[in-house]
Amino acid sequence: MINAPKGTKDLLPEESYKWQYVEDIARKTAGLFGANEIRTPTFEHTEVFSRGVGEGTDIVNKEMYTFLDKGGRSITLKPEGTAGVARAFNENGLFNSALPQKLFYITQCFRYERPQAGRLREFHQFGIEFIGSKTADIDAEAIVLAHTFFSALSVTGLTLYINSIGCKNCRGAYEKALKEYLRENIKNLCPLCETRFEKNPLRILDCKNEQCKKITANAPQILDYICDDCKEHFETLKRLLDVAKVPYKINPFIVRGLDYYTKTVFEFVSDNVGAQGTICGGGRYDGLVEQLGGASTPGIGFAMGIERLMLLLNNLNVQIPNNNRIKLYIAPFGDENAYNVAFNIAMALRQKGVVTEIDHMNRGIKAQFKYADKIGAEYVLVLGGNEIDSGVAKIKRMIDGEEITLSLNEVVNYFN
Ligand code: ATP
Ligand code: MG
Repeated sequence: MINAPKGTKDLLPEESYKWQYVEDIARKTAGLFGANEIRTPTFEHTEVFSRGVGEGTDIVNKEMYTFLDKGGRSITLKPEGTAGVARAFNENGLFNSALPQKLFYITQCFRYERPQAGRLREFHQFGIEFIGSKTADIDAEAIVLAHTFFSALSVTGLTLYINSIGCKNCRGAYEKALKEYLRENIKNLCPLCETRFEKNPLRILDCKNEQCKKITANAPQILDYICDDCKEHFETLKRLLDVAKVPYKINPFIVRGLDYYTKTVFEFVSDNVGAQGTICGGGRYDGLVEQLGGASTPGIGFAMGIERLMLLLNNLNVQIPNNNRIKLYIAPFGDENAYNVAFNIAMALRQKGVVTEIDHMNRGIKAQFKYADKIGAEYVLVLGGNEIDSGVAKIKRMIDGEEITLSLNEVVNYFN
């Protein structure tokens, strides 16, 4: 037997209806905020991510699926959605359309990581990118969109953390202060953070290593260093979140660490899914579009992991309706005409949008009831020689065994 590669997962029918439900709510919620879907390729030139996501990041350093194609080009399977969207924004001249461009996507992503609960090598993200506006109200809207989506799914117990990591005018001063503070402790940082010290010191703030956390606990805080412009931006964001009644906590340790992030960063974190508690992360990326060769264009977005979200829904016991449930199972037997009538009724019902199934295994009547029960059919219609001759049949409601007698030409009207 051949197994699926490590870190990948099959999505089976017992789960897929839940994904359809969640994706449907994602599309509807994004639509309510005026966002349209964008689909970018599964693979890009490696440069898109090395330049877009940034050389100093875990994703680019360790996690990318990169290979040479048969033409000798370096290709990478997308590890995240934002860089590809920014590349598409530039390439397709979306900057010429009405701004802001409000985009959303649901896509698979690939990262070579150690698989564990909520961490896979192929996983899925629902994300949005609002490109072209630099004002804080659109930051608030991005966050409110995520909040609205979680509410529509009846997700509870998420904490929204927000922070500002400043801009290129004020970040330098903070990095200097942070490095000064950390310098005497470099040797006590984890090996990864030791290398981050020069390249990406901010990232040390969100290291999960206990020793690193202890060291950074009393570090200078970025909110004390940001410039007036960034301060005002952050104040407006907080005010609008208050207006929208979206609760948040300020957390100076949320940095997200990618080179392109500026000003607003945020995460939605849950205590109900174990170690991989960050369901959704996002922030402003005023440098990204330019970094990928476009004109200087601000943007903000978020991405959430759908696998982690499904784990959370499961742990919270959120009931998800199965819209694919069989309404009527038709059980023909013993008479060739029974199949003709069954086919006719099934076709007419499906045309009306009623989910209908028929026997395809030539089962006896008892076995058919057993099967109907197994597939969760709500009603069963028995069609044997007697029913065909008399033109009258019984429909049984499976949940309580109640029977209704109907003439065969009333069956289609009975369901809607
Ligand atoms: P983490 O801290 O868990 O490594 P990250 O900072 O790498 O997350 P992002 O790049 O911000 O994550 O991706 C956004 C979201 O995508 C995460 O919050 C998470 O829900 C999901 N995600 C990221 N990596 C994986 C993965 N390997 N498997 C499943 N979901 C993932
Ligand atoms: Mg990661």
